[in-house]
Amino acid sequence: MPLILDGKKAAEALAAALQEKVKLWPAALTLSVIQVGARADSNAYIKAKTAFAEKIGVKVELVKFPEDILEEIVTSAVLERNNRTDIQGIIVQLPLPAHWDADVILENIIPEKDVDALTAKNVKNLLAGRAGLMPATAAGILKLLEFYGLPLSGKRALVVGRSLMVGKAIALAFLNQDATVTICHKKTENLAALAKEADILVVAAGRPALIGKDCVKAGQVVIDVGINEVPGGKLDEEIFGRKLVGDVKFDEVSPIVAAISPVPGGVGPMTVAALFSNLLDLVGNLKY
Ligand code: NAP
Repeated sequence: MPLILDGKKAAEALAAALQEKVKLWPAALTLSVIQVGARADSNAYIKAKTAFAEKIGVKVELVKFPEDILEEIVTSAVLERNNRTDIQGIIVQLPLPAHWDADVILENIIPEKDVDALTAKNVKNLLAGRAGLMPATAAGILKLLEFYGLPLSGKRALVVGRSLMVGKAIALAFLNQDATVTICHKKTENLAALAKEADILVVAAGRPALIGKDCVKAGQVVIDVGINEVPGGKLDEEIFGRKLVGDVKFDEVSPIVAAISPVPGGVGPMTVAALFSNLLDLVGNLKY
């Protein structure tokens, strides 16, 4: 059987380390989460963030606006929190209403409080390969691989998915760790053959059962980022309370590969933990 990359276990270890750092901060640390609307998935993600924050001793301020709020009011809420010394990090929960330009809202967050690392300065740092924050899913995967002592340098990595926040961010994070990276998408021809060539296969497509035994080979590390709600999935008690599967046919792929992250309990908990690692990294740069 393969090594199971247990994100809950790795996140627990990270939580313990972060808790120690929080204790060193002389005042309460507060993360502000701004939510527009009340999507069930957003509520679940916020619940997971709040639970992790409680565990490590960080306060979460949840600012909730109705779906029909004016963009200017949300912008004002961000700008006001940029200037508050009692708030160290700001997240605008995505997705925002479909007709809004999320980038316009996000760019109001000062980089010093941009825990999600989605403002232009942080994205440019990632592109340039400079040290700095990166989006939480990419950071969480790096930490998961590190926890299990799996190196990236010199490895051939293949990432399925090219969204800015997830697929591209992971690909860039891997490239910055000296992996040789291929990115795939819907127009990629012969995905299975390409996937088989990789040492590390990361799947972030949001398509249940996309990756089966035809896409993998012995010795590979498989990271399943996908979160898909399906009737027959595994119950995720911690975060969603729903039945979830990833993008990989776990039962079919796991007997073949060397290591694999499950869904739930793989990348999800690490994404939440990495967010707070980002917060503590930001705080570490402050003088007090
Ligand atoms: P997204 O914006 O919908 O992007 C999906 C990407 O996958 C696109 O680039 C798309 O290609 C590609 N894709 C879709 N179907 C494909 C196929 N059949 N073959 C090859 N590529 C395909 O989604 P996202 O925001 O990046 O999220 C991806 C998944 O990760 C979702 O399930 C999401 O819920 C999950 N997620 C998990 C975590 C976590 O913590 N575990 C965090 C964030 C997201 P095109 O560009 O050609 O359309």
